[in-house]
Amino acid sequence: MKELRGVGASTGIVVGPAKICQYAELEVAEAKDELPFKDKLETLRDALEKTTNDIRQSYARVEATNPKGAKIFEAHVLFLQDPTLLERIESMLREGYGVAYSVKRSFEESARQLEQLEDGYLRERAGDLRDVSERVLGTILHRSKTGAVLLLEPSIIVASDLTPSDTARLDRSSVLGFVTEKGGATSHTAILAEALGIPAVVGVKNALREIRDEDELIIDGRQGLVIVGPEEETIRAYARRREELERESATLRENATLTRPRRSSKKVEVTANIGSPRDVEKALQVGADGVGLYRTEFLFLDRDCPPSEEEQFEAYRIVLEQFSGKPVTIRTLDIGGDKEIRYLNLDKELNPSLGVRGIRLCLEHRDLFKTQLRAVLRASTYGRARIMYPMVAVREEIVEARAVLEEVKKELTENGTTFDKGIEVGIMVEVPSAALNAEELADHVDFFSIGTNDLVQYTFAADRTNENLSYLYQPQNSAVLGLVKMTVDASHRRGKWTGVCGELAGDAEAIPTLVGLGVDELSMSSQKIPFAQKILFEL
Ligand code: PEP
Ligand code: MG
Repeated sequence: MKELRGVGASTGIVVGPAKICQYAELEVAEAKDELPFKDKLETLRDALEKTTNDIRQSYARVEATNPKGAKIFEAHVLFLQDPTLLERIESMLREGYGVAYSVKRSFEESARQLEQLEDGYLRERAGDLRDVSERVLGTILHRSKTGAVLLLEPSIIVASDLTPSDTARLDRSSVLGFVTEKGGATSHTAILAEALGIPAVVGVKNALREIRDEDELIIDGRQGLVIVGPEEETIRAYARRREELERESATLRENATLTRPRRSSKKVEVTANIGSPRDVEKALQVGADGVGLYRTEFLFLDRDCPPSEEEQFEAYRIVLEQFSGKPVTIRTLDIGGDKEIRYLNLDKELNPSLGVRGIRLCLEHRDLFKTQLRAVLRASTYGRARIMYPMVAVREEIVEARAVLEEVKKELTENGTTFDKGIEVGIMVEVPSAALNAEELADHVDFFSIGTNDLVQYTFAADRTNENLSYLYQPQNSAVLGLVKMTVDASHRRGKWTGVCGELAGDAEAIPTLVGLGVDELSMSSQKIPFAQKILFEL
């Protein structure tokens, strides 16, 4: 039995077998062998058939929630039937090469050919081809790449890293939890895991060296602990702890929906952070006062083109309707940093977290921005929507974003389309300059919401996804709390309000401090809401 330490990314305890997932390309040696061609052909056909089934399962899974995004899997199946590609593989097999190497090299040649093409769309497909190649190789070598995990039994995924898209694609019914070597507590992979209710520990150095396929694991997402090969007694102790935690949160959940006066005179709103309409049910069950942060970018990930205005309208409408008049804060697209969108063909940046992200990107991609604003405004008649811009650093960005919003409103009015004319507009305060200049910015907004995940990252100049810098994740350091106080005080002086929607808002230890600083709203993952409500009640 050994213990590995990392960063607890998503709470919960889970026991199960490890499934090692190679995120890096699967390695295959260039070697010839004496195996008969016929046997190799059979292995190849078998692998192609299994991969086709595997892709069809992914299609069915994604199709339920994202029909357009699922289309890409149809194209993936077609790759596996491409006669030129199949001939290339077979001819290598005839020359005596192994099946895995023949597959890898033939797919790579086809991918390179695609990359030479003029057409940007076709060039982009090279990545898909490599993705499919990894799936076929995974089947041949009995290993899988994280994005394409097909688990035969419920397992705990162990990988070097998972991207937010990989995480969004995980099948909740077979993924018990995950352990990654990379990542920090507020990386979007961790945030998604929490939203999906998947216990996770990230930043476990050497996890791939210390854990083998099928090893029994216990992961404790609260403590950031991974136990490899636990003894029976330890498993029993953790099973008991898990039951206790489940009982405790069930009681809290039941109490959460009871309306009780809070002891403190000031009412602090407790709202939910959501990433899609699927998260609404959980938020309503725990009695959320609304949505403090709707991370709309998740609708844009894991697909090959942006969602249309109609698709976005539907997603926002559903959430607004379900919250029946409670506020829903829709954050406009926040891409960049650890959230990438391949189809936007953005220039590679040396420092993506300090690059064209959030509102900066939206102001550069006007069409994308206007489409989203139109969808939000059209949906705004179905409930109480608020618009929130991410990553604002200076006043000019708000002024420009508001001008675009006015343009969209004017176009809608001209078309006779109705929308909420009084829709509130706020910004996220996650760049220190915004907190330092909060008073000036307050005149241009209706509210602030402090994104402590990025605010901490930018205050300490420490990449939030870098596991080697987790000691610099100090959201309760006076440097950060000072910025929170400045923002809250400035907003109140100007008759506006301030919420917190970073992970700190749901941190039991921090809640009394935030309330003491005068924060008006705390927004967090639904799982944490019952705990927060209990703390607030007792304050
Ligand atoms: C934040 O930065 O605190 C925040 C809530 O936004 P995100 O985590 O999506 O960057
Ligand atoms: Mg942020």
